[in-house]
Amino acid sequence: MDPRRLEYLQAIGVDVWVSRSGPAPAVSAPVGVPATPLPVEEPVPVPASPAEDPLSTDVQAQWDALKTEVLACKKCSLHSTRTQGVFGVGNRRADWLIIGEAPGAEEDRQGEPFVGRAGQLLNAMLKAIGLPRETVFIANVLKSRPPGNRDPKPEEVAACLPYLMRQIALLQPKLMLAVGRIAAQNLLATDVSLGRLRGQVHTFGELNTPLIVTYHPAYLLRTPADKRKAWEDLKFARSVFQRLASQES
Ligand code: SF4
Repeated sequence: MDPRRLEYLQAIGVDVWVSRSGPAPAVSAPVGVPATPLPVEEPVPVPASPAEDPLSTDVQAQWDALKTEVLACKKCSLHSTRTQGVFGVGNRRADWLIIGEAPGAEEDRQGEPFVGRAGQLLNAMLKAIGLPRETVFIANVLKSRPPGNRDPKPEEVAACLPYLMRQIALLQPKLMLAVGRIAAQNLLATDVSLGRLRGQVHTFGELNTPLIVTYHPAYLLRTPADKRKAWEDLKFARSVFQRLASQES
């Protein structure tokens, strides 16, 4: 196995062992999970997000105007309790859009989604499938932190979702990865459990963008036994992306 890949898998807490009888590696189940080893595929390069072509001045201006609007937004009551709006971060030409629920305390302080321990785990998860953080775009359904990290209210989601829709229209990602139950259920307008939403290709919006669901890294920090399932989700997402990319070429 690629040593860097091994390092990333270990970084996200997926135990890896290599059989003495052969070179084929396998992922062992974390403690508390039935010990059915998962075969690990040989690393397949994920096409890098296009970075060479600069965005047109017009598209850059639309991104900047949208960001200014979000940071000044008072469309719901969350504006009065937030430190600052959290617009989203990353490559504005990314193929992958990662979407979480809402800023937490650290994100509210720093003005960036997925920072702190959960952000580090998300970075390691993405890197394990060949996607350094700077190659994707990361945003939340809500751009302002709900007090005490409570779940978003429906009226807050309704007020804020148009911003995400505009981000998607500008980015036109090839694949969306919804992390966590709240993001998945709000994006798919369903109350089906996260467990039942995993492992399928959903679609989102007018562009029918493929959308895949996995666990939130904050949940995985609390429930490390489920990191193995998250790894399965990431491999699934990568395979869907590669299939889409090969159909285009
Ligand atoms: S959560 Fe969204 S709609 Fe509400 S104030 Fe923040 S940016 Fe505006």
